[in-house]
Amino acid sequence: MPHTFSQHTKNKTHYRNPSISIVHLVICCLSLFTFPLPSASSLQVSVSPFTSIFTTRTVRTRLAFQNKSTPSSTSTSTSTTVIKSSIMDSIDKNLLSQLTNSANSYAAAKGLQVETKQTSSSNSSSSYQCAPISLLPNAFPAKSFHNAKSLAPHFNTLVDRISRDGDFLKDTLAGGEYSVISKDEYTKKLLELYESIYMNDGYEGDKSNFAKIADRLGIQRSDYMLNQNQNNSEDYELKQVELNTIAASFAGLAVNVAGLHRMLTQRYSKELKTLLDTNAMVVMGESYEPDTNTNIGVPTNPALDRIPLAMNVAHERYSSRFDNDSNSIDKAILFVVQEGETNTVDQRMLEFQLWTNHQIPVVRMSFTAAKDGLIMDDTTGALYTKNENGKVQYEVTVVYFRAGYAPTDYPDGYNGMEWQARELMERSRATKCPSLGYHLAGTKKVQQELARPGVLERFFTEEERKMPSDGGGGEDRMTQMRGAFAGLYSLGEDAMEEDLAAIKEAIADAEGSGRYVLKPQREGGGYNYYGDDLAKKIKDNISTSTSDNENENENGALVLGEDLAEFILMQRLFPPKQEAVLLRAGLVEGTGESISELGCFGTILQSYDASEEPIHNEYAGFLLRTKFSNVDEGGVASGFATLSSPYLC
Ligand code: ADP
Ligand code: MG
Repeated sequence: MPHTFSQHTKNKTHYRNPSISIVHLVICCLSLFTFPLPSASSLQVSVSPFTSIFTTRTVRTRLAFQNKSTPSSTSTSTSTTVIKSSIMDSIDKNLLSQLTNSANSYAAAKGLQVETKQTSSSNSSSSYQCAPISLLPNAFPAKSFHNAKSLAPHFNTLVDRISRDGDFLKDTLAGGEYSVISKDEYTKKLLELYESIYMNDGYEGDKSNFAKIADRLGIQRSDYMLNQNQNNSEDYELKQVELNTIAASFAGLAVNVAGLHRMLTQRYSKELKTLLDTNAMVVMGESYEPDTNTNIGVPTNPALDRIPLAMNVAHERYSSRFDNDSNSIDKAILFVVQEGETNTVDQRMLEFQLWTNHQIPVVRMSFTAAKDGLIMDDTTGALYTKNENGKVQYEVTVVYFRAGYAPTDYPDGYNGMEWQARELMERSRATKCPSLGYHLAGTKKVQQELARPGVLERFFTEEERKMPSDGGGGEDRMTQMRGAFAGLYSLGEDAMEEDLAAIKEAIADAEGSGRYVLKPQREGGGYNYYGDDLAKKIKDNISTSTSDNENENENGALVLGEDLAEFILMQRLFPPKQEAVLLRAGLVEGTGESISELGCFGTILQSYDASEEPIHNEYAGFLLRTKFSNVDEGGVASGFATLSSPYLC
């Protein structure tokens, strides 16, 4: 039995399909090897393709397994109806069959796959199947895409600067009696480690602490949705959903989805014209006329070149900085991964590129294995991997975390072996991706705090703030960054008038609760509260003051319960709805209205010495995720969304 965390459904990289039945499993396995057209019997299965998809049908809105720790708002499966769509009629049955077959073949040929593991008492085996994908790309305004790309280096810089501001992180996460850390053990542990390693006397006071001489590598992904502009119903603005600073995944798979979509939209351009043009009008307005001269369709996705390149820059710099005490031990990059990981193809593509383009070996290791598999030299801070015989094998230049973002990645508890391993890595001189500071800068509480007037501005010089943005909007950089923020509100002790006003609106009625999302400090999809569940969660944890003592709350004022301190409240975004065909395990899961979320990767390498200019800082590729519009949650791995790409218009 794998570790408990491998069962965790909210995991960023575990593929689950709760609607899997034995029949479905058999079909999936068959499709893996032969990609057959489904037989008549498979059409009885709710996810089976072709004949039934143009008729009114039912799909499950919640596609991941249930989990005890999941809020009730997202743990129940409800059914909803996807209405027959006239636009989809432009794709006939044969064309759909051709497209689906091409997608499955392309997935096998190019590595657009996820691993599935079978474990029995005597052995375990793996097979690979087509990743959850949208069959075709989704229209996205070129202007907003460009804006997201140009924001990437600025968010990189922001994360680096926050990571060095211990007082800001402490105030934001631990300020007051009821703070995020008073309610969330996991964030508390991260902050405690951060304080003991980077604050206090750090390296000066503790000679076994080399973190302060380690460079910092960020491989980040800022996620955005288009949101209807309040002043103009035909116009959509780019709004940030969240900033992922740890284990930002899908660079590899996203590159191949873009390749598939480019191929299909070019190869079948005539057949798909009606669908693509109609979707383009949804995001560009009714009067949109596609311009065949400037229309570039699906852009090239550089993620598989740029992300390994950033790792190479970090690796090379480490090698040159610590050249003096170099020994004959080869150097490698360490990938810290989850046991039972299924998003391995995505990770392996980075590993293979590192070897092919840069001749850098990669060692994969789980946190649990790291406790015995790593050793640090107490005099230099060099981190080494050990082989099965306990002998030193490689010196680690960069530790790249694809695990560690959820409490379930540390099954041995808060003082257990996984946290000890994380601490050892952090204390070493190896470049961490991310360092603890980068990790904490990506928390949802920090995101909310940055939205307060003047807080984002603190992290940029006046000169930087005034620089013209290169997002195409003609505004300055600060306005561009702020313009991407949605409404974000605190439910903690630091709540201010505007926060309380938002909370009141969110619990007033169904319309009010529909305008917000309630989020705890978790990563990986599946934890948020929406609608009635959101209202209930808040109402269960607030009271109304009855005191009119002037030192206490005003009579009738909202009193927030301490349990709300770990949550933030966010304005709900409403992206344009487009027609899509979504595939899971290579089979058509359903067709209907969908919404999308754009992710923009950014990479940064910063010297340990903050006074130096960044060594590397750039946009590094994109990802689009698409889900049915009636699905609240996101996350491909957690079974809510599929991988897609933008069709620029
Ligand atoms: P996680 O760290 O779990 O990925 P997110 O903040 O990205 O947390 O939320 C998960 C998903 O919930 C998103 O991918 C998106 O689909 C949906 N979501 C989050 N915030 C909003 C919002 N403000 N409006 C609409 N949907 C949202
Ligand atoms: Mg997310």
